[in-house]
Amino acid sequence: MQVDLHMHTGYSADAAYPQTVEDKVRACRAAGLDIIGITDHLDFYRTRGPAENRDAEACLRDARAAKDAAEGIEVLVGIEIGQIHADPAADDFVRGHELDMVIGSLHAMPNDLDIYFHDYEHLDCDAFLQEYFDQVLQMEAHGGFDVLAHIDYPLRVMKHGDYVPSFDQYMDRVEQVLRACIDHGYALELNAAGLAGWQKRVGPPQNILYEYRRMGGERISIGSDSHTLDTVGRGVRDCAANALDAGFTTVTVFRGRRPEQVPLTK
Ligand SMILES: [Zn+2]
Ligand SMILES: [Zn+2]
Repeated sequence: MQVDLHMHTGYSADAAYPQTVEDKVRACRAAGLDIIGITDHLDFYRTRGPAENRDAEACLRDARAAKDAAEGIEVLVGIEIGQIHADPAADDFVRGHELDMVIGSLHAMPNDLDIYFHDYEHLDCDAFLQEYFDQVLQMEAHGGFDVLAHIDYPLRVMKHGDYVPSFDQYMDRVEQVLRACIDHGYALELNAAGLAGWQKRVGPPQNILYEYRRMGGERISIGSDSHTLDTVGRGVRDCAANALDAGFTTVTVFRGRRPEQVPLTK
């Protein structure tokens, strides 16, 4: 089964626009994908209202319609919630909608600034990463989601000057994150967005995937994190290859928020 369980349409504020859900499903079918998750952004913050989605209600309505109309491909109705632990409105939103899958992401720090927009040349990167792990752990403890997204997001964006970010010096913190992931039953996401960045590879780093497996991790998710029509399915085969290499034989698909194991294929 070729799966891509993380992608954005024009409803996401940072995605190519216009880009309808219908367009996206058509592109996925053309790309040979079997199961897809439509997972547009909806981010929550401490000091302001939710953002990053042009119309969250219409977004889920369109995804639902695409699921019902889909032929030759399975469409899952999902959402990528940023900072589900930052605002009780996030839980209300998730509870108030019929969803197949919820991706839990940490995009913004407690100052409500996206990790992407921090000025790494002028801040203490070690302290930043410690706080990042604290936040991921808080989010995991809070719960309310199914897939733990791109835990290596800071690695994509922190590189500057001679500083090359790595989690290798933070494996004790990474292990805490993986332990909580396993204990709560989240699927650890293999996310292909890093292919387009300086790392030129999918995440998380393979040693982290080995560690997750060694610790007893059984659930993984796979997603391109596509924000344009021409990138659907990009990197999902690399993700599958990494997962197989680490000993996983299945990918976890959430249907109606219930996990089901689907065979992994290269
Ligand atoms: Zn994300
Ligand atoms: Zn995303």
